[in-house]
Amino acid sequence: MNIGFIGLGNMGGPMAANLAAAGHRVTGFDPSGVLPEGVTAADDAKAAVADTDVVILMLPNGAIVAEATAEVLPAMQSGAVLVDCSTIDVETTRRLAARAEAAGIATLDAPVSGGTTGAAKGTLTFMIGGDAAAFETTRPLFDIMGQKAVFCGPAGAGQAAKICNNMILGVTMAATCEAFGLADRLGLDRQSLFDVVSTSSGASWSMNTYCPAPGVGPASPADDGYRPGFAAELMLKDLRLGQEAAQVSGVETPMGRTACDLYTAFVDQAEGRGRDFSALIRRYEDQSA
Ligand code: NAD
Repeated sequence: MNIGFIGLGNMGGPMAANLAAAGHRVTGFDPSGVLPEGVTAADDAKAAVADTDVVILMLPNGAIVAEATAEVLPAMQSGAVLVDCSTIDVETTRRLAARAEAAGIATLDAPVSGGTTGAAKGTLTFMIGGDAAAFETTRPLFDIMGQKAVFCGPAGAGQAAKICNNMILGVTMAATCEAFGLADRLGLDRQSLFDVVSTSSGASWSMNTYCPAPGVGPASPADDGYRPGFAAELMLKDLRLGQEAAQVSGVETPMGRTACDLYTAFVDQAEGRGRDFSALIRRYEDQSA
């Protein structure tokens, strides 16, 4: 396929490179001028999407996605598909999908889980909302960039799945960090806590796979000085999107709100920025000391 790829950063760069390596013709644009292997550079977003079958966006936030969409829609050929892999708010996604549909362009919201490692290895999980027929057309591309693509429903359903998943992740990580802090104070050995919880009803991905305590459980960012992995500020971004969605929908999410408050303080007032989100455990270690 002819693919236009807008946003070639930490995630978009390796995703575009994987599509090119699989034999697709990829034309990319990023104002920073980075150019992944196998990708042809375009001077601007419009030039990147001309004559393409599929346009993929991988951008920082909803405002930038809205701007890029307004720019590329008039330049896309009819019948082409616009796929937004960025994590953005559900409202913006739905609004942009309606605008694209009016212009004869089918859209998919396809945020990802799996981080930069998953992007590089082509093992991302895609959560997809939007046009079901467009999903069938583009499925081979998701198979290259990821290991799993789940179609979740109409426009916005992919973003909804992503923010719900990451709200659970933020809450379980905060609870896991808190439990290690309490265990420390109670004189309970960290390895023993892991051995019990990872095979008991307190188990979660945060404990079993991504344990925030160094030297405990499988290798994780905790064993690498909390180098991200999944940066605390990205966790905060997703928790804020969750809170925005809860507010717009009139839904109570007290656990999500608390996790959002904890990560806000961690990123804005403590040492969280630039570190993995599991470094939140430091907050409880300090308290324990
Ligand atoms: P990034 O900052 O590394 O990359 C974003 C890129 O977009 C940058 O290279 C920037 O120059 C480019 N950009 C900005 N404005 C642009 C414009 N108008 N046109 C074209 N390019 C533009 O961010 P990232 O880590 O690659 O994240 C991208 C998206 O993926 C975000 O929405 C993020 O929430 C989501 N995400 C990231 C991770 C992760 O671990 N990094 C995991 C899951 C989801």
